[in-house]
Amino acid sequence: MSKRRLEGKVAIITGAASGIGEAAARLFVENGAVVVVVDVQDELGEKVVASIGPERACYKHCDVRDEKQVEETVAYALEKYGTLDIVYSNAGIIGSYKGILDLDMASFDNLIAVNVAGGAAVIKHAGRAMVARNIRGSIVCTASTAATRTGLAAHAYTVSKHALLGVVRSASRELGMYGIRVNCVSPLGVATGMSCTIPGIKRFRLDTEFVETQMAAVSNLKGMVLKPKDIAEGAMFLASDESSCINGHNLIVDGGFPETSNIYPIEIAKTII
Ligand code: NAD
Repeated sequence: MSKRRLEGKVAIITGAASGIGEAAARLFVENGAVVVVVDVQDELGEKVVASIGPERACYKHCDVRDEKQVEETVAYALEKYGTLDIVYSNAGIIGSYKGILDLDMASFDNLIAVNVAGGAAVIKHAGRAMVARNIRGSIVCTASTAATRTGLAAHAYTVSKHALLGVVRSASRELGMYGIRVNCVSPLGVATGMSCTIPGIKRFRLDTEFVETQMAAVSNLKGMVLKPKDIAEGAMFLASDESSCINGHNLIVDGGFPETSNIYPIEIAKTII
């Protein structure tokens, strides 16, 4: 039997009702952790917990835009399981594909509230709990290949992931002094529940076959089919003791996507509809 890499650990995963977060919840539990599945999609989140098994996971509603809910979620995990070793801040939205000339400031603010401020609030309250209890924990965020490159996603999303990477790197400097690590995993496109809107055209979901074919075509890794579980594996490495000397790192999971590639999403989106 292969080694269980998170044996005895207690983890919170935000955005775990679907996609990468759900895959991580399953993988973390398979590897010996207990997981607090956190999301705003309550029905889906409860289903994930029911299928994992309520003895290894539980569901907690939390909108990461609301700092109080984030604080309560950390307190809930501590109360229920007695400690907190891993926090995977993964909740995120993609927003709409608007050009810079038509930027909708309200949806821009909302994207920043979820993807950046939400991540910062999770790091803050996870960090406080770990510092107060002298826990040498691991905090992992989901950034994106759009955190270091432009032309891969809409402007607001690109900005939000660049900012989130800044939060991760900056927080890692301070929390590292307490033995707490803060890292992020950065996926290329993966087919998940994430849906996108092209204003004035339509709302669509990232279609599995289309996304996988497109991403395989732009990656230089022969035979790559990027799945949510592949990203969860990266997150688990950063969460586990195997990465105990890695801090402030951005682990890109993209099958070797060349630096020169530029797939502005509106062009991809146009081919779907
Ligand atoms: P997903 O939509 O399947 O999962 C995101 C989850 O976050 C959903 O369950 C959603 O309900 C939850 N969520 C959204 N807003 C929230 C809020 N305010 N509070 C709490 N939960 C909230 O999509 P996914 O692809 O699994 O996305 C997970 C992360 O991966 C996101 O941060 C996303 O930006 C990032 N990412 C995804 C891709 C991709 O191609 N799918 C690529 C790079 C990065």
